[in-house]
Amino acid sequence: MTEDSVIIRAEKVVKTYDTGTARVTALQGVDLAIRQGEMVAVMGPSGCGKTTLLNCLSGLDYVNAGEIWLEGKNLATMSDRERTEYRARRMGFVFQVYNLLPVLNAVENVELPLLVSGRRPKEARARAMAALEAVGLAQWAKHRPAELSGGQRQRVTIARALVNDPAIVWADEPTGALDSHTANEIIDLIRELNERIGLTVVIVTHDPAIGDRCDRIIRMRDGQIVGETPGALGLGHKGWPVGAGAADGQAGGGVRPAATTR
Ligand code: ADP
Repeated sequence: MTEDSVIIRAEKVVKTYDTGTARVTALQGVDLAIRQGEMVAVMGPSGCGKTTLLNCLSGLDYVNAGEIWLEGKNLATMSDRERTEYRARRMGFVFQVYNLLPVLNAVENVELPLLVSGRRPKEARARAMAALEAVGLAQWAKHRPAELSGGQRQRVTIARALVNDPAIVWADEPTGALDSHTANEIIDLIRELNERIGLTVVIVTHDPAIGDRCDRIIRMRDGQIVGETPGALGLGHKGWPVGAGAADGQAGGGVRPAATTR
């Protein structure tokens, strides 16, 4: 992996939660690198630190030690305001719960982040419609979330994540609330967007079928990365060198071999 192809890099990231009565080390020195245009699944048992990793990598939460670079920028050097602006400009988020505002219709939900970041209403509406089109929901633009199915709501969430034309989309159990047929449709859509517009996608999931649809599966246990495997299509289908890939412990540009992490 060449340095300039890396869009997300983490080195020796440690995250501790202090609840007053207990101290939990959720990330115990995570090293990771993700390529521009890669679609990566983060998998592992409940409580192993997947969501914490996603929150720390995306700058939603702070780390106790270690460094994170996104597009070559060190998160630690950004003020709170810079982080918030950077997230709004360059990232999209898709969570298990849709976080759609019930009083707004689909297009209003999708355009909201643009209006908040100061875009003109006309431009925001046009971009929101284009994003709904990209997820196959243009004809549902005027419907409120309550009038949409679970799969359609998640498509609206994906449209909202895409509307800023982000570099990275972070997804935490994006299909967790969906039946398996709808879950497959959603993951196919995310995959299509990844391949069509070169979006970098990081997905936290329990679902092995989703892992298989990704370029690479990063496996976590007890706050550490304990192994990596290519998805079912392998890294080669995007023209990446398989020999320098995940399975030999080198992808990630510094990810330790699984056997040494425990
Ligand atoms: P996963 O996403 O793999 O289920 P999490 O990242 O949610 O795991 O949690 C990792 C560990 O950190 C767990 O032990 C969890 O209880 C703890 N944890 C997560 N969030 C908090 C929090 N806000 N306060 C205290 N402990 C937390």
